[in-house]
Amino acid sequence: MDLEISPLALQGIEQKRPLVIAGPCSAETEEQVMDTARQLAHDGVKIFRAGVWKPRTKPGGFEGVGVEALPWMQRVKAETGMLTATEVATPEHVEAALKAGIDILWIGARTTANPFSVQAIADALKGVDVPVLIKNPVNPDIELWTGALLRINSAGIKRIGAIHRGFSSVDSKLYRNPPMWHLPIELKRRFPTLPIICDPSHMGGRRDLIAPLAQQAMDLGFEGLMIEAHCNPDCAWSDANQQVLPEVLDFILDRLVIRDSVEATESISQLRKQIDELDNQLMDLLTRRMRVSREIAEYKKIHNMTVVQTTRYSEILDKRGAQGALCGMNPEFIRTVYEAIHSESVRQQIEIINK
Ligand code: PEP
Ligand code: MN
Repeated sequence: MDLEISPLALQGIEQKRPLVIAGPCSAETEEQVMDTARQLAHDGVKIFRAGVWKPRTKPGGFEGVGVEALPWMQRVKAETGMLTATEVATPEHVEAALKAGIDILWIGARTTANPFSVQAIADALKGVDVPVLIKNPVNPDIELWTGALLRINSAGIKRIGAIHRGFSSVDSKLYRNPPMWHLPIELKRRFPTLPIICDPSHMGGRRDLIAPLAQQAMDLGFEGLMIEAHCNPDCAWSDANQQVLPEVLDFILDRLVIRDSVEATESISQLRKQIDELDNQLMDLLTRRMRVSREIAEYKKIHNMTVVQTTRYSEILDKRGAQGALCGMNPEFIRTVYEAIHSESVRQQIEIINK
C-alpha cells in the first residue's frame, strides 16, 4: 500500500527547510500561552504548538486543561497570525480542535501505538481537509508507524507528515527517547515525499541535546523541527527539563547549518563508487570468514564440542573493540558488528552440527 501525499501547503508559510513548529509542551494558562506565543512570533516562528490534552504515563500528572485552552489558541492566531497545532487522541479531541479552528493536528506517540485509537481518529477525520502529523509510536516499530499513516491517509487526509520523536528504550543513558535514525530514514525510503519533522525535545529530554539533535535531523535532509519552548521553562507543568526560552530557541535555530539536498555531484559519485567497491570486498571477506567458521563446525561435530565457546567469543569482542578504537571507530560500534557476525556464524555452525 502506498500513501497519497500532497504538500502540506500551510497558509502563509514559505516552503523552506526547516519548517519550524514551536511552543510549550502544554497550554497551562492563558497568560503563559500568550506570553510564549508573542515571543516566538517576534522571533519569526510561524507555527505555534501547545498540548491541550496531555497523555500522561501515570495518573496524577498534569493532563492538560482541555477545551478551556482552545480559545487561548484562537487568541494566539488572531493576535500573532501564527498557525496553531495541537495533539489529538480521540474523536472528541478532533471535533473540538477543528471547531476551534486549530490549523494542524498531530497524533502523539502513545496514540500512534494503538491502531484502535488511530482508526477512531481517522474515522473522525473523514471528509475534513486538515494537515495531520503522526508521531512515531513509542516502540521502534516502523510497521506500526506506517500503519497509522495509512489509516489517516485512507480517511482522505492527503496533507500528511511524520514526526520523529525517538523511541522508548530500556537502557538509554543519554537520550530520553533514543533517535534510532535508521527508522525515519527507512520511512523516507518508503515514502520519499513524506515530510519528516524531527522533535529533538522529546528525543533528548534535555535542553542541551536540542541543538545537536536538530542539526543531525537537518544533516539527514528532514523537512522540519518541532521544539518545545516556554516563557518560564523551569516552572513548566510538564516536560520542564526539555523546554527552552523562546530566545534560546531563536539562538539554536540561528546557528543551524542547513545544507542543500542537491543531486549527487560528480565527486560524490566517484566516492560512492569507491564505497561500492569496498562493500564488495567486505562481502567477499565475510563469505570467506563464514566458510572457515563452517569448517570449524565440522571439527566441533567430530569431536563432540559445543558450538559457542565463551572465552573465545569474549576474546574476539575485546580484541576487535580495542583495535577499532585505535582505528578511530567507536568500540561499541565494533562490538555490535562482531555480535552480528558471531550470531550468523553460530547459526551456520548449529546447522552443520545438527546435519
Ligand atoms: C508532546 O508533544 O508534548 C508529547 C506528549 O509528545 P510525545 O507524543 O512525542 O510523547
Ligand atoms: Mn512534551
